[in-house]
Formats: sequence, structure tokens, C-alpha cells
Amino acid sequence: NLILAFESSCDETSVAVIEDGHQILSNIVATQIKSHQRFGGVVPEVASRHHIEEITICIKDALAEANVTYDDLDAVAVTYGPGLVGALLIGVTAAKTVAFAHNLPLIPVNHMAGHIYAARYVEPIEFPAMALLVSGGHTELVYMPAENQFEIIGETRDDAAGEAYDKVGRVMGVNYPAGKTVDEWAHQGHDTFNFPRAMDKDDNFDFSFSGLKSAFINTTHHADQVGETLDKHDLAASFQQAVVDVLADKTLRALKQYPVHQLILAGGVAANHGLRERLDAELAAVPGTRLVKAPLKLCGDNAAMIGAFAEVAYRHQVFADATLNADPSLEFDWVADPVK
Ligand code: ATP
Ligand code: MG
Ligand code: FE
Repeated sequence: NLILAFESSCDETSVAVIEDGHQILSNIVATQIKSHQRFGGVVPEVASRHHIEEITICIKDALAEANVTYDDLDAVAVTYGPGLVGALLIGVTAAKTVAFAHNLPLIPVNHMAGHIYAARYVEPIEFPAMALLVSGGHTELVYMPAENQFEIIGETRDDAAGEAYDKVGRVMGVNYPAGKTVDEWAHQGHDTFNFPRAMDKDDNFDFSFSGLKSAFINTTHHADQVGETLDKHDLAASFQQAVVDVLADKTLRALKQYPVHQLILAGGVAANHGLRERLDAELAAVPGTRLVKAPLKLCGDNAAMIGAFAEVAYRHQVFADATLNADPSLEFDWVADPVK
């Protein structure tokens, strides 16, 4: 089947045409990063305005690049949460309009399920699976007994990993979003600061990154006060090592209790090279579990990942009607009527 997928939950406007949930015919991503950088983060009103300006162009380009017309489509899918309500609404309204104008079913997709399903572009997902979902707003371990079931077994108690990257990046003068640059600097430095690994040894699957962020900020402020210049590469390497250590340790602990065929690494922070390399090494020693890393280009927000999960919902006939609304704090829901 052919699905036209929409994503507009944050600062990327994206439209994709996906075949059978695993083949990308097109995936147009219009990023607004430049417009938000001078504010040091995403400004919701600015995001909404950009989505309005970009979305029809993205639809046109996605259809053209895929070389299909509305008549070739089987369904329309859209992220309806979680995210910024004003941003989500643009995608939801556009998707509804296309669906009802062309008499196509409308598939509501959870943005976080989409992130996980980016792994489908690497290989078919085999269940049970575990996802380490690390992004700008979420840090979760998600157990998936079946394709339509998501159980959060652990999550951050405060900041998300991506949020922590952006905040320490800002302290070092890096533009938003800072993750990629901090990652690059980390590879040029060494873990000399030995920042705290919060909750690392605790007997649960939860995370905490605010203590690490505070330790980082205190260290840099103290250096400023005494006129000392710290090596930014070592700072980045020390921060990254602390993040990667807790993410890897908790994930391995989870895999012991929940044996799975695949560990899926997904979300914007899944693009982190330190994390990818560490999990590659660790998973080599876990028999029966393969690491499936979301493709680098599909870790950040995009509509292709929304189309990948939409195909599952399509088979389960999970459709929405014209009353579909944006839900900024949408949580995972088990899709009804599991198909065997
Ligand atoms: P959510 O998906 O939770 O709603 P979001 O959509 O804003 O939040 P994503 O787009 O999935 O988040 O991810 C963006 C985050 O990923 C940013 O915080 C960014 O700094 C981070 N990031 C991107 N590349 C890297 C990297 N190489 N290393 C670490 N973090 C990274
Ligand atoms: Mg983004
Ligand atoms: Fe996201």
C-alpha cells in the first residue's frame, strides 16, 4: 500500500510517501532550525507559522519525488502527538484535508511510535523487541511484545538526554540543537572530569540527567570565576561518557529481565556516535539480541518514520475521523484488536 505521511510535531515540517511501511518513495524534510537558533530553542509560535508556510510545498514535493498522484494513495497518516499543540495542528489539519478531499482513510500516529519504527528501514522488526528511545523530549526504555504494543519499563525522572545535550551545549556556546556538535567534540577529548552517573546502580530502569547537567554547569561556572579555561573537548567527552554509561548500563540491565530479539536504538539522540559505538560493543556480548540502530538520517524528526508505523495501524484498521485533534501530551496506547 501507499501512504502519504505527515510530521509537524516540533520544528521539522515533513511529508513522505511510503510503500508497504518499509520503502521510502520520498521523504521531504523542511527544517526551521535557523529561525529558532537565535532564541536558543524552539519558539512555538514561530514553529507554527513555518509549518503553515512549508506544508503545501512539502506535499507537492513528496508526491512529485515519489512520482505518484493522490489517486495512487491508500491512506493518509499524521503525527497527532506528543509535541507542540500549535505545530501538531498544522499537520493534523493538512492531513485531514487531504484525506477527506480524496476519500482516503486517516491514520493517527504517535510520534514516539514513529521514532521506534524508523528501525524498519534497516530490517523488519522482530518481536519481542526493546527500544531505547532517546530524543529531545523523551528518554525511555520501551518493551514491545508485539508490533502494536508499547510498554514503558523505564524513563527519565527529569531531563531528556537530548535536552541535557542542548543545555550543556548552550553553556559551551554551541547553537541549538547542540547534540551533534557536542558529540563531535567528545570524540576529540577524554573523560577527565568524571561527572556523576545518576541512578546507574539503582535497581530500576529509570534515568536522571538533571544532576549531570548541574554538575557540568557548576564545573564551568567555577572555572569562569577563577579565570581558568577548561578544554571544551574534554568537557564534552566527560559529559558524553556519563550519558552513554547510564544509557548503556540501564539498557543492558533491562535486556537481562526482558530477553528480546532486537534492541532498537531510536530518537534524535540515537544519532550519537558514542552511543551507537558503545551499544554495538555491548550487544555483541548479548546472545540472541541484535542491535538495530535507526538510520542516521532518520533519527531526527521525519515523516518516513510516521509512514512506517502507519502501515501497522492500517493493517489493524486504526483510523480516525474528522474529529481527530492534536494531543500534545499523547502517551503510548496499545492498538486495539491485535492482528496475529
Ligand atoms: P521528541 O521526539 O521527544 O518529541 P524532538 O522531536 O524535539 O523530541 P528529536 O528531533 O527526536 O527530538 O531529537 C532532537 C534532539 O536530538 C536534540 O536534543 C538534539 O540535540 C539531539 N541530537 C541530535 N544529534 C545528536 C547527537 N549526535 N548526539 C546527541 N544528541 C543529538
Ligand atoms: Mg527537531
Ligand atoms: Fe522527535
